[in-house]
Amino acid sequence: MPVHLPASAGPDGAPAMLGVMGGGQLARMFVHAAQTLGYRTAVLDPDPASPAGSVSHLHVRSAYDDPAGLAQLARHCVALTTEFENVPAPALAWLATQRPVAPRAEAVAICQQRAAEKAHFARCGVPCAPYAVLAGEADLQSLDDGLFPGILKTTQLGYDGKGQRSVASRADLATAWTALQRVPCVLEKRLPLQREISVIVARAADGQWVHLPVQQNLHRDGILAVTEAPAPDLPPPLAAQAVEQAARLAASMDYVGVLCVEFFVLDDGSLVANEMAPRPHNSGHYSLDACDVSQFELQARCLAGLPLVAPRQHSAAVMLNLLGDLWFGAGSDAASVPPWDRVLALPGVHLHLYGKAEARRGRKMGHLTVTAAEPAEARRVAREAASRLALPAL
Ligand code: ADP
Ligand code: MG
Repeated sequence: MPVHLPASAGPDGAPAMLGVMGGGQLARMFVHAAQTLGYRTAVLDPDPASPAGSVSHLHVRSAYDDPAGLAQLARHCVALTTEFENVPAPALAWLATQRPVAPRAEAVAICQQRAAEKAHFARCGVPCAPYAVLAGEADLQSLDDGLFPGILKTTQLGYDGKGQRSVASRADLATAWTALQRVPCVLEKRLPLQREISVIVARAADGQWVHLPVQQNLHRDGILAVTEAPAPDLPPPLAAQAVEQAARLAASMDYVGVLCVEFFVLDDGSLVANEMAPRPHNSGHYSLDACDVSQFELQARCLAGLPLVAPRQHSAAVMLNLLGDLWFGAGSDAASVPPWDRVLALPGVHLHLYGKAEARRGRKMGHLTVTAAEPAEARRVAREAASRLALPAL
């Protein structure tokens, strides 16, 4: 991967442009980081009001598979990345014929398909939950009894708990599958979770890699609600094991860029991989405020071929996700702006809003990170912030 310094410019002498497929909040934070390093940025997203498109030098408003849009993006940019895994693989593959693309289309393809992802875990010797593929009518009877109670997940396009159904026993399976439109699914055994953690690694084209501290995640209704970093009282050998497995997974895909691996820690203390995201991850947002290098700067460095340095976490952090529900009081249909002044009055609160025009229930509108010298203090202020916003108690 060639090194692109910001000033290594096109014919007009302007700084080099880095491009991203998708214009949501992850792209917005990437764009901010890339611009801080001196790059111009381009975003391809069909939404005229996309959070990243509105803060970028160039916004290509086209479908993700539109040849003219892709050509325009490639023409302007020295290198390209993606902010979500559901970009059509052929689009990334075509872009790669024009410009360096990181991560590679093949790695994104693994991460966007649960069955392929789990098969890849197995190839790498990384344990995951027992599962089986449900692809057709015949599988309804033949799936192993040991997978119940389980969770039925669509193999593709699931996120934030969408595309999932709880399945208590085989008797529920057909109904759950019908509710998921009978698309290909995996049935995963429901595991007893002690906690959830995730690891974010960044890997350069030469194989050098660095990682953020292991963070602990709390989900509500399938959506990430709270991340704490460092993960409280996580046994160091377990943290090291998670980091080693994430790095192994990245290396095995010849991965370039930022990769997040979500893990379960089971009641017996063992570690099980859940899923991968081929991009920065919601659980790494705290790195913007609590680390000397954020996951988005790492993404920009990987893409531009710049050196990677190990991030150092300088503050304890608790991140709270801010969903659209916050804009609506209990049972109210009218949206009103949450009392930001009340949380900004607390020490160490960093508010990030993504510039989305319309608040909707379940929609990620922003996050806030509380930083403090000690984890107990970050937790105390986060509890107070949650209370002032009428978020569920921590
Ligand atoms: P998504 O792509 O929506 O993030 P996940 O597969 O990560 O889907 O599932 C969302 C959440 O559901 C997980 O973070 C975890 O809390 C819970 N979950 C998923 N799979 C299992 C499982 N096999 N056992 C127990 N809980 C699970
Ligand atoms: Mg997940």
